Amino acid sequence: MNRVFNFSAGPSMLPLPVLEKAAAELIVYGDSGMSVMEMSHRSPDYEAIIADAEAMLRKLMNIPDNYKVLFLQGGASTQFAAVPLNLIGRTGKADYVVSGQFSGKAFKEAQKMGYDVVCTATSKEDNFDHIPALTREMFRPDAAYVHICYNNTIYGTKYADIPDTGDIPLVADMSSCILSEPVDVSRFGVIYAGAQKNMAPAGLTIVIVREDLLEYADPKMPTMLEWKTMAENGSMYNTPPCYTIYVAKLVCEWLLSLGGLSEMKKYNEKKAAVLYNYLDSQSYYIAPVKKESRSMMNVTFVTGDAELDKKFAKEAAAAGLKNLKGHRSVGGMRASIYNAMPSEGVDKLVAFMKDFAAANPKA
Ligand SMILES: *Cc1c(COP(=O)(O)O)cnc(C)c1O
Repeated sequence: MNRVFNFSAGPSMLPLPVLEKAAAELIVYGDSGMSVMEMSHRSPDYEAIIADAEAMLRKLMNIPDNYKVLFLQGGASTQFAAVPLNLIGRTGKADYVVSGQFSGKAFKEAQKMGYDVVCTATSKEDNFDHIPALTREMFRPDAAYVHICYNNTIYGTKYADIPDTGDIPLVADMSSCILSEPVDVSRFGVIYAGAQKNMAPAGLTIVIVREDLLEYADPKMPTMLEWKTMAENGSMYNTPPCYTIYVAKLVCEWLLSLGGLSEMKKYNEKKAAVLYNYLDSQSYYIAPVKKESRSMMNVTFVTGDAELDKKFAKEAAAAGLKNLKGHRSVGGMRASIYNAMPSEGVDKLVAFMKDFAAANPKA
């Protein structure tokens, strides 16, 4: 069995020990006599799995008691609609920072519903090569919330600091950086993330929401999008994505066994530094992102020649370094180096980059 280094932005690599444990438990879980895939979500065995998943996530992220943790479906994209539907009732208006494609989609979704939303700042005119500078004064003081995307998966940018929004609840899409490092959850009103980047297979969306923000939902909204209903029902208003939650539990267990998120951060910083240090030491590849906005999870680079970029991705794949082609909207290359990417994968990538540059001189 040959496993490659998979640099996909999502769905992406899962830790090998997690896959091995899931495989060992695939057909019969514990003494239940059945697979987790076959279990009633109301059974004691499953109740224990979802309770453990939540407890471990709370421990890892140090989530304060006045926050609810929800296990939902629909992907981060469904939350683009759920966020305004649940929160706009607070004051009737909301502010968005557009730092890439996903935050742009979130903004458009709120606009589409006819709400009073404004784009406070964007880096669109610079092709999203940095996070726009923000100050508290830029936001409308009576905004119901400020929405940001904390790590921009497609462009490879990340906020260097949590923006200061004063008393306005900050809502963050953390799909591509959740569990990559410790974050101060208390600085956010809501954190949400599609799990398929750094947590679990596709099909699970995590929402972490401060309890006092559960009171503003539009009463006419679809029940399935209402955080309060999901919170009151322990994420089991309907059938939750049972198996994906189980794998998320295994991932949390793995992270705890490694020492938690501060240890993971050190490991991730080291991996990212290997790539960025190489990029900064040469001129064959160009890293388009401004240094202060660099992502630790998604590293983007180009050769400056679209044909060479194509050749790079193709030959890298043949060498066991898969999915390095950049997002279809931006081109170039992107190495997604989430928690599960071993440092060996990054070392191999840099060695490949050196060989490729030597073998393919530019005209
Ligand atoms: C992948 C991604 C999304 C979209 O997630 P889905 O689960 O496919 O809806 C949204 N935001 C960010 C930051 C992402 O990386």
